[in-house]
Amino acid sequence: EPVFRVENLTKIYRTGDVEVRALNGVDMTLYRGEMAVLLGPSGSGKSTLLNIIGGLDQATGGKVWFGDTELTGCSQRELTRYRRDHVGFVFQFYNLIPSLTAWENVALVTEVSRHPMRPEEALAMVGLDHRMSHFPAQMSGGEQQRVAIARAIAKRPDVLLCDEPTGALDSRTGVLVLEALSRVNAELGTTTAIITHNAGIRQIAHRVFSFLDGRMSDCTVNETRVDPA
Ligand code: ADP
Ligand code: ADP
Repeated sequence: EPVFRVENLTKIYRTGDVEVRALNGVDMTLYRGEMAVLLGPSGSGKSTLLNIIGGLDQATGGKVWFGDTELTGCSQRELTRYRRDHVGFVFQFYNLIPSLTAWENVALVTEVSRHPMRPEEALAMVGLDHRMSHFPAQMSGGEQQRVAIARAIAKRPDVLLCDEPTGALDSRTGVLVLEALSRVNAELGTTTAIITHNAGIRQIAHRVFSFLDGRMSDCTVNETRVDPA
Protein backbone atom coordinates (compact mmCIF):
# COMPACT_ATOMS: atom_id res chain seq x y z
CA GLU A 1 0.00 0.00 0.00
CA PRO A 2 1.54 3.33 -1.04
CA VAL A 3 2.01 5.92 1.70
CA PHE A 4 3.64 8.54 -0.51
CA ARG A 5 3.31 8.93 -4.26
CA VAL A 6 5.62 11.51 -5.77
CA GLU A 7 4.99 12.51 -9.38
CA ASN A 8 7.28 14.64 -11.53
CA LEU A 9 8.29 16.69 -8.51
CA THR A 10 10.32 19.82 -9.12
CA LYS A 11 11.70 22.41 -6.76
CA ILE A 12 13.41 25.60 -7.79
CA TYR A 13 14.94 27.88 -5.18
CA ARG A 14 15.19 31.49 -6.27
CA THR A 15 17.60 33.83 -4.52
CA GLY A 16 17.66 37.17 -6.30
CA ASP A 17 18.49 36.36 -9.93
CA VAL A 18 19.96 32.99 -9.07
CA GLU A 19 17.89 29.87 -9.65
CA VAL A 20 18.79 26.50 -8.21
CA ARG A 21 16.92 23.51 -9.54
CA ALA A 22 17.01 21.30 -6.45
CA LEU A 23 14.55 18.69 -7.76
CA ASN A 24 14.14 18.04 -11.45
CA GLY A 25 11.26 15.62 -12.09
CA VAL A 26 11.32 13.02 -9.33
CA ASP A 27 8.91 10.07 -9.40
CA MET A 28 8.85 7.66 -6.48
CA THR A 29 6.53 5.68 -4.23
CA LEU A 30 7.07 4.78 -0.59
CA TYR A 31 5.09 1.85 0.79
CA ARG A 32 3.56 1.40 4.22
CA GLY A 33 6.00 -0.05 6.72
CA GLU A 34 9.08 0.15 4.56
CA MET A 35 12.43 1.57 5.53
CA ALA A 36 13.91 3.54 2.65
CA VAL A 37 17.30 5.20 2.44
CA LEU A 38 18.09 8.16 0.22
CA LEU A 39 21.69 8.20 -0.99
CA GLY A 40 23.56 10.63 -3.18
CA PRO A 41 26.13 13.41 -3.15
CA SER A 42 25.66 16.66 -1.27
CA GLY A 43 23.35 18.96 -3.22
CA SER A 44 21.55 16.17 -5.10
CA GLY A 45 18.15 17.10 -3.63
CA LYS A 46 17.64 14.55 -0.87
CA SER A 47 16.81 17.04 1.91
CA THR A 48 14.56 19.02 -0.37
CA LEU A 49 12.55 15.90 -1.17
CA LEU A 50 12.31 14.92 2.51
CA ASN A 51 11.21 18.44 3.45
CA ILE A 52 8.48 18.45 0.82
CA ILE A 53 7.03 15.05 1.73
CA GLY A 54 7.25 16.11 5.37
CA GLY A 55 5.25 19.26 4.71
CA LEU A 56 8.12 21.56 5.71
CA ASP A 57 8.60 22.98 2.24
CA GLN A 58 6.43 23.45 -0.84
CA ALA A 59 7.09 22.13 -4.33
CA THR A 60 7.47 24.27 -7.44
CA GLY A 61 5.82 21.67 -9.70
CA GLY A 62 4.56 18.10 -9.66
CA LYS A 63 2.49 16.28 -7.08
CA VAL A 64 2.91 14.53 -3.75
CA TRP A 65 0.17 12.34 -2.35
CA PHE A 66 0.05 11.14 1.25
CA GLY A 67 -2.56 8.40 1.01
CA ASP A 68 -5.59 10.16 -0.48
CA THR A 69 -4.38 13.64 0.46
CA GLU A 70 -2.55 15.72 -2.11
CA LEU A 71 0.07 17.53 -0.05
CA THR A 72 0.97 19.75 -2.99
CA GLY A 73 -2.58 21.12 -2.85
CA CYS A 74 -2.53 21.86 0.88
CA SER A 75 -2.43 25.27 2.54
CA GLN A 76 0.26 26.07 5.12
CA ARG A 77 -2.33 25.56 7.82
CA GLU A 78 -3.21 22.09 6.49
CA LEU A 79 0.47 21.21 6.21
CA THR A 80 1.00 22.20 9.84
CA ARG A 81 -1.78 19.86 10.88
CA TYR A 82 -0.42 17.11 8.63
CA ARG A 83 3.00 17.40 10.25
CA ARG A 84 1.55 17.39 13.74
CA ASP A 85 -0.72 14.38 13.21
CA HIS A 86 1.31 12.18 10.87
CA VAL A 87 5.03 12.97 10.71
CA GLY A 88 7.96 12.46 13.06
CA PHE A 89 11.22 14.22 12.21
CA VAL A 90 14.79 13.45 13.22
CA PHE A 91 17.60 15.80 12.19
CA GLN A 92 21.37 15.84 12.48
CA PHE A 93 21.23 17.94 15.64
CA TYR A 94 19.09 16.67 18.46
CA ASN A 95 17.49 19.91 19.63
CA LEU A 96 16.78 18.56 23.09
CA ILE A 97 15.93 21.02 25.83
CA PRO A 98 19.02 21.05 28.09
CA SER A 99 17.13 21.80 31.30
CA LEU A 100 14.80 18.80 30.88
CA THR A 101 15.52 15.10 31.44
CA ALA A 102 15.22 12.56 28.64
CA TRP A 103 11.81 11.58 30.01
CA GLU A 104 10.66 15.20 30.18
CA ASN A 105 11.90 15.98 26.66
CA VAL A 106 9.73 13.15 25.33
CA ALA A 107 6.81 14.04 27.62
CA LEU A 108 6.60 17.53 26.10
CA VAL A 109 5.39 15.87 22.91
CA THR A 110 3.19 13.20 24.43
CA GLU A 111 1.26 15.80 26.41
CA VAL A 112 -0.05 17.34 23.20
CA SER A 113 -0.59 14.15 21.18
CA ARG A 114 -3.83 12.29 20.74
CA HIS A 115 -2.68 8.68 21.04
CA PRO A 116 0.81 8.91 22.48
CA MET A 117 3.02 6.24 23.93
CA ARG A 118 4.17 6.79 27.46
CA PRO A 119 7.59 8.48 27.40
CA GLU A 120 9.18 5.49 29.14
CA GLU A 121 7.73 3.23 26.44
CA ALA A 122 9.23 5.33 23.65
CA LEU A 123 12.59 5.53 25.45
CA ALA A 124 12.63 1.76 26.02
CA MET A 125 12.07 1.18 22.32
CA VAL A 126 15.35 2.97 21.53
CA GLY A 127 17.20 1.19 24.34
CA LEU A 128 17.28 4.07 26.82
CA ASP A 129 15.24 2.67 29.73
CA HIS A 130 18.25 3.39 31.96
CA ARG A 131 18.62 7.03 30.90
CA MET A 132 15.15 8.43 31.61
CA SER A 133 16.26 10.79 34.38
CA HIS A 134 19.44 11.94 32.64
CA PHE A 135 19.85 15.41 31.24
CA PRO A 136 21.15 15.84 27.66
CA ALA A 137 24.60 16.96 28.88
CA GLN A 138 24.91 13.70 30.81
CA MET A 139 24.40 11.61 27.67
CA SER A 140 26.57 10.75 24.67
CA GLY A 141 25.70 12.08 21.22
CA GLY A 142 24.27 8.71 20.21
CA GLU A 143 22.10 8.60 23.32
CA GLN A 144 20.87 12.14 22.72
CA GLN A 145 19.95 11.22 19.18
CA ARG A 146 18.04 8.19 20.47
CA VAL A 147 16.13 10.50 22.83
CA ALA A 148 15.29 12.61 19.79
CA ILE A 149 14.05 9.46 18.03
CA ALA A 150 11.94 8.54 21.08
CA ARG A 151 10.49 12.05 21.02
CA ALA A 152 9.70 11.71 17.30
CA ILE A 153 7.94 8.34 17.64
CA ALA A 154 6.10 8.98 20.91
CA LYS A 155 3.12 10.48 19.10
CA ARG A 156 2.93 7.34 16.93
CA PRO A 157 3.46 9.10 13.59
CA ASP A 158 2.63 7.30 10.36
CA VAL A 159 5.96 8.29 8.88
CA LEU A 160 9.37 9.02 10.32
CA LEU A 161 11.66 11.25 8.25
CA CYS A 162 15.31 11.34 9.24
CA ASP A 163 17.71 13.85 7.67
CA GLU A 164 21.31 12.85 8.43
CA PRO A 165 20.50 11.43 11.88
CA THR A 166 24.04 10.02 12.01
CA GLY A 167 25.73 13.13 10.60
CA ALA A 168 27.24 14.27 13.89
CA LEU A 169 28.20 10.80 15.12
CA ASP A 170 31.18 8.51 14.59
CA SER A 171 30.36 5.52 12.42
CA ARG A 172 29.99 2.95 15.23
CA THR A 173 27.66 5.21 17.20
CA GLY A 174 25.81 5.97 13.99
CA VAL A 175 25.14 2.26 13.51
CA LEU A 176 23.51 2.11 16.96
CA VAL A 177 21.22 4.96 15.97
CA LEU A 178 20.31 3.22 12.71
CA GLU A 179 19.63 0.00 14.62
CA ALA A 180 17.28 1.92 16.92
CA LEU A 181 15.44 3.24 13.85
CA SER A 182 15.28 -0.28 12.45
CA ARG A 183 13.77 -1.61 15.68
CA VAL A 184 11.14 1.16 15.66
CA ASN A 185 10.32 0.36 12.05
CA ALA A 186 9.97 -3.36 12.82
CA GLU A 187 7.97 -2.97 16.04
CA LEU A 188 5.68 -0.08 15.15
CA GLY A 189 5.62 -0.50 11.38
CA THR A 190 6.38 3.20 10.94
CA THR A 191 7.18 4.02 7.34
CA THR A 192 10.69 5.45 7.52
CA ALA A 193 12.87 7.43 5.12
CA ILE A 194 16.47 8.17 6.07
CA ILE A 195 19.21 10.26 4.57
CA THR A 196 22.52 8.94 5.84
CA HIS A 197 26.06 8.34 4.66
CA ASN A 198 26.63 5.66 7.32
CA ALA A 199 27.55 2.39 5.58
CA GLY A 200 25.61 0.44 8.24
CA ILE A 201 22.40 1.40 6.48
CA ARG A 202 23.14 -1.35 3.96
CA GLN A 203 22.25 -3.92 6.61
CA ILE A 204 19.01 -2.19 7.51
CA ALA A 205 17.16 -0.51 4.63
CA HIS A 206 14.51 -2.31 2.58
CA ARG A 207 15.07 -0.09 -0.45
CA VAL A 208 17.82 2.23 -1.56
CA PHE A 209 17.04 5.34 -3.65
CA SER A 210 20.01 7.07 -5.27
CA PHE A 211 19.89 10.76 -6.14
CA LEU A 212 21.98 12.75 -8.58
CA ASP A 213 21.48 16.33 -9.76
CA GLY A 214 17.90 16.62 -8.55
CA ARG A 215 16.80 13.31 -10.00
CA MET A 216 16.25 9.85 -8.58
CA SER A 217 18.84 7.97 -10.61
CA ASP A 218 18.35 4.48 -9.22
CA CYS A 219 16.16 2.43 -6.88
CA THR A 220 17.15 -1.01 -5.67
CA VAL A 221 15.63 -3.52 -3.29
CA ASN A 222 18.18 -4.38 -0.65
CA GLU A 223 18.88 -8.11 -0.92
CA THR A 224 21.43 -8.09 1.89
CA ARG A 225 19.13 -6.68 4.53
CA VAL A 226 19.33 -8.16 8.04
CA ASP A 227 16.29 -8.21 10.34
CA PRO A 228 16.71 -6.25 13.57
CA ALA A 229 17.65 -8.29 16.64
P1 ADP B 1 21.14 17.19 -0.43
O1 ADP B 1 20.19 16.96 0.71
O2 ADP B 1 21.19 16.05 -1.41
O3 ADP B 1 22.49 17.63 0.01
P2 ADP B 1 19.58 19.60 -0.90
O4 ADP B 1 18.18 19.18 -1.11
O5 ADP B 1 19.94 20.11 0.46
O6 ADP B 1 20.55 18.40 -1.31
O7 ADP B 1 19.97 20.73 -1.93
C1 ADP B 1 19.71 20.63 -3.32
C2 ADP B 1 20.14 21.93 -3.99
O8 ADP B 1 19.27 22.96 -3.58
C3 ADP B 1 21.56 22.39 -3.62
O9 ADP B 1 22.12 23.00 -4.75
C4 ADP B 1 21.30 23.38 -2.54
O10 ADP B 1 22.34 24.34 -2.49
C5 ADP B 1 20.00 24.01 -2.97
N1 ADP B 1 19.20 24.51 -1.82
C6 ADP B 1 18.71 23.76 -0.80
N2 ADP B 1 17.99 24.52 0.04
C7 ADP B 1 18.03 25.78 -0.45
C8 ADP B 1 17.46 27.04 -0.04
N3 ADP B 1 16.72 27.13 1.05
N4 ADP B 1 17.72 28.12 -0.80
C9 ADP B 1 18.45 28.03 -1.93
N5 ADP B 1 19.00 26.89 -2.37
C10 ADP B 1 18.80 25.78 -1.66
P1 ADP C 1 0.51 10.51 34.41
O1 ADP C 1 0.53 11.14 33.04
O2 ADP C 1 -0.39 9.31 34.48
O3 ADP C 1 0.34 11.47 35.52
P2 ADP C 1 3.20 10.44 35.37
O4 ADP C 1 3.53 11.82 34.93
O5 ADP C 1 2.95 10.21 36.81
O6 ADP C 1 1.95 9.86 34.55
O7 ADP C 1 4.36 9.49 34.87
C1 ADP C 1 4.16 8.15 34.43
C2 ADP C 1 5.42 7.34 34.72
O8 ADP C 1 6.60 8.06 34.38
C3 ADP C 1 5.54 7.02 36.21
O9 ADP C 1 6.02 5.68 36.31
C4 ADP C 1 6.58 8.00 36.72
O10 ADP C 1 7.34 7.45 37.77
C5 ADP C 1 7.46 8.21 35.50
N1 ADP C 1 8.00 9.59 35.54
C6 ADP C 1 7.31 10.74 35.76
N2 ADP C 1 8.11 11.81 35.69
C7 ADP C 1 9.36 11.35 35.41
C8 ADP C 1 10.64 11.98 35.19
N3 ADP C 1 10.81 13.31 35.25
N4 ADP C 1 11.69 11.21 34.91
C9 ADP C 1 11.53 9.85 34.83
N5 ADP C 1 10.36 9.21 35.02
C10 ADP C 1 9.27 9.94 35.30
